[in-house]
Amino acid sequence: MTAAVAVEEQGRVTGQVAEVFRSYQGEGLLLGKRQVFVRLAGCTVGCRYCDTEWALGSVADVAVPRCTEEAGEEAETPTRLQNPLTVEQVLELVERVDPGGTSAVSLTGGEPLEQPDFARALCAALAPRDVMLETAGLDAVALAHVAPHLRWVSCDLKLPSATGRAGVLDEHAAVLASGALDGLEVFYKLIVDGDVGRDEVARAANLLSSYAPGASVFLQPVTPLGGSPALPREQLDPFVDILAAAGLEVRVVPQVHKVLRVR
Ligand code: SF4
Repeated sequence: MTAAVAVEEQGRVTGQVAEVFRSYQGEGLLLGKRQVFVRLAGCTVGCRYCDTEWALGSVADVAVPRCTEEAGEEAETPTRLQNPLTVEQVLELVERVDPGGTSAVSLTGGEPLEQPDFARALCAALAPRDVMLETAGLDAVALAHVAPHLRWVSCDLKLPSATGRAGVLDEHAAVLASGALDGLEVFYKLIVDGDVGRDEVARAANLLSSYAPGASVFLQPVTPLGGSPALPREQLDPFVDILAAAGLEVRVVPQVHKVLRVR
């Protein structure tokens, strides 16, 4: 996309934004990096362990956005803007929380790909900051739309037991086969709770070994929420064994921002 087109997109695309804040990345490949988090509202995936429950539901039903100005701490008088926001308004919030900064931006949610035009325009406008998309990775068309403006993609592998979507791994297969992730720095996050079966992990492992051989996979024992049971210690090693046997680069990393007690 040319700069002129990006400016044109900024002018006419608006989005539902839940919050903008600066903190430390608590998951995945960029663990520990200071980033600006732009959280778009709305997600219809339906994971039962979701920790952004207030951002759930269709994009049309979102809450009022808020801006928090420092890592890990709610500002006493956070900025609150009425949705929808323009790209320019979000850029101003990013600059407010990371003044003059060069921190990479994590575009997260909710599910950013449920607002593909806004996500694309925003990612284009955020340059020269690098952008990482955090996504459930279930929409190939939306992903390809945003991809030209991304550096990294943190792509979840959703499992039927967590989402109630019996065919969710087939949905992932369709996205992986589409080529929408080609050319990007992609890593995968597999959240596992006490109800996850070895068969599900094996299917996920086979999927990745077919379409993304040798990929980095972050196995994340669930932070128990919403009736999602903790992962018993004895289930961890078999899951790692399954992923490693498929030739994947597996690391076990819990949600570190919870340990740090930051957002
Ligand atoms: S995809 Fe993410 S935001 Fe959506 S329900 Fe699952 S955990 Fe929550």
